[in-house]
Amino acid sequence: MILPSPLSVGNGHLHIGGHDTVELAERFGTPLYVTSEDRIRENFHRFAGALRNHYQKVQVLYAAKANGNLAVFKILASMGAGADVFSAGEVALALAAGMRPELLLFNGSSKTSADLALAVEKGIRVSVDSLDELRQLDRVAGAAGKTIDIAFRVNPAINVPTHPKIATGLATSKFGIPAGEILDVYREALALEHVNPAGIHCHIGSQILAVEPFAREVEVLIDVAGDLIDIGVNLSFIDIGGGLGIPYQRETDRAPAPKEYAGAVMPVFLRGIKELGIEPELWVEPGRWLVADSTILLTRVNSVKIAHKAFANVDAGFNLLVRPTMYDSYHEVVAANRADAPAVREYSVTGPICETGDILAKDRMLPELAAGDLIAVLDAGAYGFAMSSQYNSRPRSAEVLLAGKEAALMRRAETVDDLTAAMVTPPWQE
Ligand SMILES: *Cc1c(COP(=O)(O)O)cnc(C)c1O
Repeated sequence: MILPSPLSVGNGHLHIGGHDTVELAERFGTPLYVTSEDRIRENFHRFAGALRNHYQKVQVLYAAKANGNLAVFKILASMGAGADVFSAGEVALALAAGMRPELLLFNGSSKTSADLALAVEKGIRVSVDSLDELRQLDRVAGAAGKTIDIAFRVNPAINVPTHPKIATGLATSKFGIPAGEILDVYREALALEHVNPAGIHCHIGSQILAVEPFAREVEVLIDVAGDLIDIGVNLSFIDIGGGLGIPYQRETDRAPAPKEYAGAVMPVFLRGIKELGIEPELWVEPGRWLVADSTILLTRVNSVKIAHKAFANVDAGFNLLVRPTMYDSYHEVVAANRADAPAVREYSVTGPICETGDILAKDRMLPELAAGDLIAVLDAGAYGFAMSSQYNSRPRSAEVLLAGKEAALMRRAETVDDLTAAMVTPPWQE
């Protein structure tokens, strides 16, 4: 098996960032998310560096939804990242981590008036997703006596090779304004008093393992930018979104490196802006690529059952990692306490949730397993804990952050009391 960079094997145990996973599981308990800060820093350097080799005015906006731990935000903030935020909660986290409001973009197709007011109050740019939202935002900004910089989210109608639930730039997607109607909304924005159309935004989807769709996306954006200049829009940023995928199946997936991504996207962008005679900032919104491979989910085998096939029943299920159930995603699994034992039997690694679909990994060759063994689920840093739930009334797990030789909680495990903390007894039940 090919192990991603923060992982290694020593004394028969899987290590992450130089830490023995067996010791981490004993010290902090399972299930347990473990994240390597060093790996996030490396990823950021590689991603931002690849683009900045072509053009200096690149700003990375971390897609906040991928991993919402404040400690992760702080790592990225310290490296100069802003954030693509979708909610008041993500705004609060980004600001608490020290990100500057002008490096945030408030995204989403369904914002409340409170969301719009928050953006206006904090001076956060908004990616506007409809004409209705534009008019509401203009009123909200007017009431506050302010003018707010906006972009529109363009729907480029591009098919991308990924899971349909995470393809966002299809003509039929709920996101964005069709490229054919985009001039009209900019015209309206130009005529309004309290919004200033300053950018253009697009995001075509997630876990995309080819670079061509991104190059086509940039072509569409450059075309639109040309039309926008003609009607008098002063473009200060072009935001091409995120979506670069990672090789979850390392043996077979071919995933483009950031260098390849930059090599496909940047020439189109640079040629385009040169022809248009503008030098806008290029904004990018990677989520998965920055954090996915920084993190593993450690889960303990409760029991082994040999039925029509072999099941390793573990203590984490789709309550903690929903991707396999929701998107049929593949995550590599490793027997962390016997990482160099030969794989001798096919197991399905199944969680404790009372649903048939609660399978973390299907039919994988693993060493002979027994109760008490430790399984590591790899590449769990993006859309892992972030999408967890308390389903089946299971408190969520702890998250540990590693930096060099240090290991510490970045989130404590929830308790049964946390399950009822927000519940209120109706008076007639008192
Ligand atoms: C989810 C999302 C991203 C990040 O996608 P990744 O595949 O994690 O890189 C970026 N921009 C927007 C608008 C998103 O919704």
